[in-house]
Amino acid sequence: MDMQPIPYGRQNISQDDIEAVVTALQGDFLTQGPKIFEFEQAFAKYVGAKYAVALANGTAALHLCALALGVNSNSKVITTPITFAASANCVRYCGGSVVFADIDAKTATLDIEKVRTLLASSPKGTYQGIIPVDFAGYAVNLEEIRKLADEYGLWIIEDACHAPGGFFTDSSGQKQHCGNGNFADLAIFSFHPVKHIACGEGGAITTNNKELYEKLLLLRTHGITKDAQLMLENHGGWYMEMQELGYNYRLTDFQAALGLSQLKRADDGLERRKAIAKRYDEAFAGTKVLPLTPPEDGGHAYHLYVIQVANRKGLYDYLRTKNIFAQVHYIPTHTMPYYQALGNKKGDMPIAENYYEQCLSLPMYPTLTNEEQDYVIDCVLNYASKEKLDA
Ligand SMILES: *Cc1c(COP(=O)(O)O)cnc(C)c1O
Repeated sequence: MDMQPIPYGRQNISQDDIEAVVTALQGDFLTQGPKIFEFEQAFAKYVGAKYAVALANGTAALHLCALALGVNSNSKVITTPITFAASANCVRYCGGSVVFADIDAKTATLDIEKVRTLLASSPKGTYQGIIPVDFAGYAVNLEEIRKLADEYGLWIIEDACHAPGGFFTDSSGQKQHCGNGNFADLAIFSFHPVKHIACGEGGAITTNNKELYEKLLLLRTHGITKDAQLMLENHGGWYMEMQELGYNYRLTDFQAALGLSQLKRADDGLERRKAIAKRYDEAFAGTKVLPLTPPEDGGHAYHLYVIQVANRKGLYDYLRTKNIFAQVHYIPTHTMPYYQALGNKKGDMPIAENYYEQCLSLPMYPTLTNEEQDYVIDCVLNYASKEKLDA
């Protein structure tokens, strides 16, 4: 069978998206125009939060979260090793220390019992915050994390890059959507092309906290305000004040127009992702190919479809010969040379390291056709039967 290369993830650009961008380009503003606020409002509504701040990318979003929460060289912050490096790097940008806690093998997300042990083994006040990650689209239980965080006076940044539209079910049976701000102080999203909603580059922070929201707006644009109510002085129409050391982390208006147009199809994309996951689940049931366990309430947002197999490298290489570009998410962050130089080492996080040896993300994106998916499934099962994946 002759197949076009099949990546693990890709964007989905419609004619409507193209027209939305062209219209924005023909408008008066290229950067920070009316589409930014429109996109922010629509995105906040989509995730169920009061406020959203659109930013240049997800990494900038993480950086501003850390700044707004006051991370500095005295701060110690806990995160998971199974995530994109930016989840940890944001703490380092502000001079703070990253402390990794191991994952739960079933979900590959932060193991709350490991976090509890870590917190209990140091005097109160040692840690300032936790950055849990909704890995692969699995919405972590932020109600439980909040309870623990409150015992120690910690803030929470939810890295929800993988999970727009995802949710967990809280103790009273309510669906709690990722980024809704009911438990985390701040949540961040990315609009990179492989994520659910693409802006090219792009990101957002969502929150229900007005004070943090206003601080983030200031930090997004150099720490400069032109709001007469906030300024200490006012010399005339030209006057503005730089009140904080901020950055230029703005999104452009035409990127926001693209995001807004993409957002209209986000639910369709999510449904398609769930249908693809269900087909994989059915195909791999009873085989040596073990998918990560999804929650039973349907709250998984399936940014990734992760399987675990014993001979992962063999399968990865074999799929490449078949024009299937599976990917590994993630090489544990604490084993990166940069983090090893800071005192971390292999062996520190055995569950994450064992997970890394076996994980592989199969193609998962809304425009993946059933025919393409069947081809992927055939190749994976073909390899599994020949190569004894559990050998
Ligand atoms: C993509 C991603 C980021 C960073 O987003 P960018 O927009 O690429 O900067 C951060 N955390 C996670 C978990 C991600 O997947």
